[in-house]
Amino acid sequence: MIDSLLSQLSGPSLALVVTVGAAVFLAVRYVAIAGGALWFVMRFADQLGLRRIQKLPFTREQLWREARFSAMTIGIFALLAAAITALTGQLHFAQAAMPSSAAESAWAVAAVPIALMLHDFYFYWMHRLIHVDWIYPHVHRVHHLSTNPSPLAALAFHPWEALIEALGVLAILTFVPLPLPSLIVFSLLAFSFNVLGHIGYELFPARLMASGFGRWINSATSHNLHHRTFRYHYGLYTLIWDRAFGTIDPRYDERRLAAA
Ligand SMILES: [Zn+2]
Ligand SMILES: [Zn+2]
Repeated sequence: MIDSLLSQLSGPSLALVVTVGAAVFLAVRYVAIAGGALWFVMRFADQLGLRRIQKLPFTREQLWREARFSAMTIGIFALLAAAITALTGQLHFAQAAMPSSAAESAWAVAAVPIALMLHDFYFYWMHRLIHVDWIYPHVHRVHHLSTNPSPLAALAFHPWEALIEALGVLAILTFVPLPLPSLIVFSLLAFSFNVLGHIGYELFPARLMASGFGRWINSATSHNLHHRTFRYHYGLYTLIWDRAFGTIDPRYDERRLAAA
């Protein structure tokens, strides 16, 4: 149904639908997941006390700054999606048609972890690149203004960083075409994990952290350490690339194992 509706739209009106649709979806996603996570950790701050990674409160000024830059990022993501739609005259990064065969349904499921792994790899190298001395102040410093990030920092990027991040994701979605339901699942998983990295509390159970599996996931402790030290732990979902390319903080494994 969605595909037949979209197929009736011409380039400019399709781009308008994409802009509004993407902006609304991204804004609701941000408010529900990042806002929900902030509410959760503030509401249950006493119960979560020992799980707090840095013993500093989030400041009002910090929360406003993170929310402001995140709002700008949402606008950039939506406009970029619309610009590509307008240029190509089609929905370039999603298949509006629903899966109709067993093979298409299997692909709809398999494509999500494939897209997440490609994103993880892209993000690692993009993140290392924007930490290069002469690039960092112009692109990535805004994100690192939060040395003790809150969940609202999940999209707190300078416009250049938002653009580089979005172009990478759109390139991945061009190579790995996701049906719309898979795209929504990918987007929700990606953002939830991003928020978890900035939540300021280690919510993974100590046993998971110390396990073989825990060794490979990018925990809140891991990303918080990146915000504090400005080096190490460039990964997004996993620590696969950090371990492969020697960018794990030497203190991290000790801390991870000590928690159990
Ligand atoms: Zn971050
Ligand atoms: Zn960084």
